[in-house]
Amino acid sequence: EPLVRHGDEVLTFENAPDGDPAVAAVRERVRAALAAGRVEMVGALGGDAGAGMGSTRVAADGSPAAVPHLGSTGEVDGVVERARSLAPTWAAAGADARVAVLSDVANRLEAAREQLIAVMAHEAGKTVGESEPEVSEAIDFARWYAGSAAGLADVGGEELTFEPVAVTLVTPPWNFPVAIAVGGVLAALAAGSAVVMKPSPLAARCGVAVARHVRDALAAAGHDPDLVQVVQVAEDEVGRHLVAHDGVDQVVLTGSLETAELFAGWRAGRDGVGGPRVFAETSGKNVLVVTPSADLDLAVADVVRSAFGHAGQKCSAASLVILVGSVGRSRRFHEQLLDAVTSLRVGVPDDLGTGMGPVVERPGGKLLRALTTLEQGETWAVQPREVAPPAGHEEWEGRLWTPGVRVGVQPGSWFHLTECFGPVLGVMRADTLEEAIAWQNAVPFGLTGGIHSLDAGEIDRWLAAVEVGNAYVNRHITGAVVQRQPFGGGRGPRWGRVPRPGGRRT
Ligand code: GLU
Repeated sequence: EPLVRHGDEVLTFENAPDGDPAVAAVRERVRAALAAGRVEMVGALGGDAGAGMGSTRVAADGSPAAVPHLGSTGEVDGVVERARSLAPTWAAAGADARVAVLSDVANRLEAAREQLIAVMAHEAGKTVGESEPEVSEAIDFARWYAGSAAGLADVGGEELTFEPVAVTLVTPPWNFPVAIAVGGVLAALAAGSAVVMKPSPLAARCGVAVARHVRDALAAAGHDPDLVQVVQVAEDEVGRHLVAHDGVDQVVLTGSLETAELFAGWRAGRDGVGGPRVFAETSGKNVLVVTPSADLDLAVADVVRSAFGHAGQKCSAASLVILVGSVGRSRRFHEQLLDAVTSLRVGVPDDLGTGMGPVVERPGGKLLRALTTLEQGETWAVQPREVAPPAGHEEWEGRLWTPGVRVGVQPGSWFHLTECFGPVLGVMRADTLEEAIAWQNAVPFGLTGGIHSLDAGEIDRWLAAVEVGNAYVNRHITGAVVQRQPFGGGRGPRWGRVPRPGGRRT
């Protein structure tokens, strides 16, 4: 598939394949990396633990994560000035240099596949089944943006070029701590910008791992690795100083709506051409509709995958399933759904047999309420329970929960309208497809959504009416694939849109 023309060359793009767990050697490599990573994550990534580095998470051996923590506004100024000083040379280095560095990053990520899986497992609690495709997605982003760096020719006969801004602050999330970090950093580098990356404190080591590969690729090609600096700041005066800094031209955030609002507030009032320039991909409360014409076996599998992949901690996850007409009364559907949910094997992420891993933090707030408290008209079809981690895995204490299904969720109720970001699925029953669509469109965010139906007329009606960025038909509603499914919201608070080629099959 040709991607772009670059001089006389045609750059092509193909999605990176995941490691095949059926191959014993692949399994062994992952197992070995998980074991080594548990002893010393930073060591497993080929670096050194370094002195004076801090993070909220520590490795199993108690060593701190390798992220310099900026403790004063003066330190922030130093980091931003360093980025600004390097930006013009990188912007002038030209397309060939950028293509070379980004392609090299893709190869380095591929070579570090198992180590990246390990750091995601130990720090962010991702299972191998979730983190394996995430590494592939990161590689896809690197190759895609390498193509973009060459200049996006031939887009509908138009020629597009990127104009660099000097400094981009990239703040990736903890739930896709490798792929989205790679995507944000490399999109900025591809456009000729210098980068300051502030990973989530819940996944700082993942950010360090990503930055290390990018920095190594820059250095190997003779560029200054400080074109990508990775730092940690608290949400205090120092954090505000970084986010609102005059020397930061734009901020690219993936995180909660609250964080986007905080950042936008901090950057409000900035003038100039760019204004505040906060690009954010934030929250989701996503719905899958199942109609009586659906293949119910497939629907069950896709509901479970969409709701409980990464323990429901995806902005694309299904939080609600709306059953239309007779599906709501179908014993077979209910029994299959409950069987599938209760047979998900909950466990620790470095056990290759784990089906659903931990939540990122001991639940509190909205998630705790969703896991423990029913609203009027609701009952538990499957009640979530906290389970103890196996001996020797105490770091997951309080974070292992079995999945929950609450039925009888009422239109307009708290669970209908609230993003909870965890392993709880609500079931609603609608009389008609139109009623289901109205309830689907009533949720506060329109990120992803799905329908299971084998009736072309129903599918057309749903597609015409549903207000989501990514509308999926007869499949799971997570796992947008780079190049094939551009990913982003269709409704809800507007935060600008980063040209992003999509997520992946996670
Ligand atoms: N790209 C992911 C997907 O398509 C979601 C990203 C997110 O949760 O931030 O499922």
